[in-house]
Amino acid sequence: MTELTANRLFSAVFPLAASFHNSCCNSSHSKGSIVQLDNMNVHVLPALDDNYMYLLVDKRTKQAAAIDPVEPEKMIEAVEDTGVNLVAILTTHHHLDHAGGNKNLVKMVPGLKVYGADDRIKALNTPISGGDQFQIGSLQVQCLSTPCHTSGHICYYVTSSDPEERPVVFTGDTLFVGGCGRFFEGTAEEMYRALVKVLGVLPDQTAVFCGHEYTVTNLKFATHVDGKNLALREKLSWALEMRNQGQPTIPSTIGEELSYNPFMRVGEKALQMHTGQNDPVATMAALRAEKDNFRAT
Ligand SMILES: [Zn+2]
Repeated sequence: MTELTANRLFSAVFPLAASFHNSCCNSSHSKGSIVQLDNMNVHVLPALDDNYMYLLVDKRTKQAAAIDPVEPEKMIEAVEDTGVNLVAILTTHHHLDHAGGNKNLVKMVPGLKVYGADDRIKALNTPISGGDQFQIGSLQVQCLSTPCHTSGHICYYVTSSDPEERPVVFTGDTLFVGGCGRFFEGTAEEMYRALVKVLGVLPDQTAVFCGHEYTVTNLKFATHVDGKNLALREKLSWALEMRNQGQPTIPSTIGEELSYNPFMRVGEKALQMHTGQNDPVATMAALRAEKDNFRAT
């Protein structure tokens, strides 16, 4: 199966609903969408210039969690439109374009649990660390520690009680579609561990919901460093098509990322040859340094 076919199949699995919240989203960077699974829905809510926040809904209990709700009013609109019971905020990391809405959202919905693994996170009241688990309704949330972009960065891996159901993971600024976050508070070794040893071993079909719409720029860089990769070229043309229509390129899957994301492919010969390195961590460091100075055309 070619990657393009896989993408089409993926779209069929995740039919994107019509955009909603028109009053708030017309000026936004993308249309909103809802990704529907058997036991959970994920509302993709564009925010600020290129951020995404998410509303995760457990269909059985109608309990819901807000992931990185930087624009609380927009989050509340989605909660009210959907008629769900918002019980928690899941914060991936303390940067204000992710955690900056926590305080106001807690004011608007008193009693919310605010999860996170960094005491710099606004309104944090339920500190967690890697390996911790908790429930949102009937959904199981597992906290994956992925320090590097920030020292307290957490990815949230969510499964339902149905073993057949596709899991989802909220990756904040650790893993993007086709890229990864900057190493503000960590090393190449830590990002290697996060992308390859922690996220890279999740089931291939896991849906990836990341913190920013950086896909096209990331894939242009990826093409520069891994130009012979067919899956990559097909993903880039798909992403350009989506962006031309104002559609988000979210979610991807872990299996897809392993096929074209250069930062997850640092063990591959092509990437090692491009960087002139012969081990994955040195390749990670070299790729990040190159990306930091890369200007997509
Ligand atoms: Zn960040």
